[in-house]
Amino acid sequence: MAPPLISIRGLEVQYRTEDATVYAVNGIDLDVERGETMGLVGETGAGKTTAALSIMRLLPAGTGKITAGGVFFNGVDMLGKTEDEMRRIRGDKISMIFQDPMTSLNPTITMGAQIRESLEIHSPEMTRAEMESRVDELLFSVGIQPRRKYEYPHQFSGGMKQRVVIAIALACRPELLIADEPTTALDVTIQAQVLALMDDLKKQMDTSMILITHDLGVVAETCDSVAIMYAGEIIEKGSVYDIFEATNHHPYTEGLFNSLPDLDRESERLNSIAGLMPDPSALPGGCKFHPRCGKRVEACDSAVPPVCVSGGHYIACHLFGREV
Ligand code: SF4
Repeated sequence: MAPPLISIRGLEVQYRTEDATVYAVNGIDLDVERGETMGLVGETGAGKTTAALSIMRLLPAGTGKITAGGVFFNGVDMLGKTEDEMRRIRGDKISMIFQDPMTSLNPTITMGAQIRESLEIHSPEMTRAEMESRVDELLFSVGIQPRRKYEYPHQFSGGMKQRVVIAIALACRPELLIADEPTTALDVTIQAQVLALMDDLKKQMDTSMILITHDLGVVAETCDSVAIMYAGEIIEKGSVYDIFEATNHHPYTEGLFNSLPDLDRESERLNSIAGLMPDPSALPGGCKFHPRCGKRVEACDSAVPPVCVSGGHYIACHLFGREV
């Protein structure tokens, strides 16, 4: 049987500064199959972006370090790759889209040239004419008139810029697209269009996707599977059906759902989860959610929660037995 497209096992990532060690990712396991879209969900500081940067081997040099575990792409250990090998993989086999399109765009280069650059790096066998034709095709596929390839980023709106970033990310038909809050910086009306576009293109190209988001509404619309992160750990994961329809949930997942707006109760305030994510340089013992959990039991303060699995639905919590 073919291995998952991406498989993460026991991944631990730390940021080390002179003053402290930040425990950003603390032993996560994840699989993404071919063609699957997985939502990676959690509050700011949960470790979602660090996990994604680890896959790309783009952790900040000097401070960020993978301290344990492995990342396997098509069964091959990515952590054993040289930097040259990783440069060939990035943008070709695995692409990443960031929240702010200007993180990826150069303001001094035309949009067309920026799309072409990706082809020049990863498909040097293409002629200039073939590249220009592919640039036109990509712009057209993201809903932008190809004649606009001669324009610069400042001549585009935020939504249009993110569409060009999507075109760049998909230029080489990557096997995996990692999208880190790709619509958060956009107007609400544009967000849905950009998400629908990404979903459409990934299906056409049979690309798998890891969608990092804090928005469960986006997950429900777009994802096949979901992993929920808290304090650098995955506390619940399963199919989109498991997360949205199953009876049992991790108390943190319940909190995320309770903080969604309820359209039937328009005047009530949202129920946010009390307290804050713990300081990642001084994580609590036992269950890391215990200082905020309204359902904690005695074991929660000191004992690491057992992992309870039912089918593909996984919950790490003392409230459940070995089987959920
Ligand atoms: Fe709450 Fe305990 Fe479950 Fe953690 S293990 S979520 S503290 S009940």
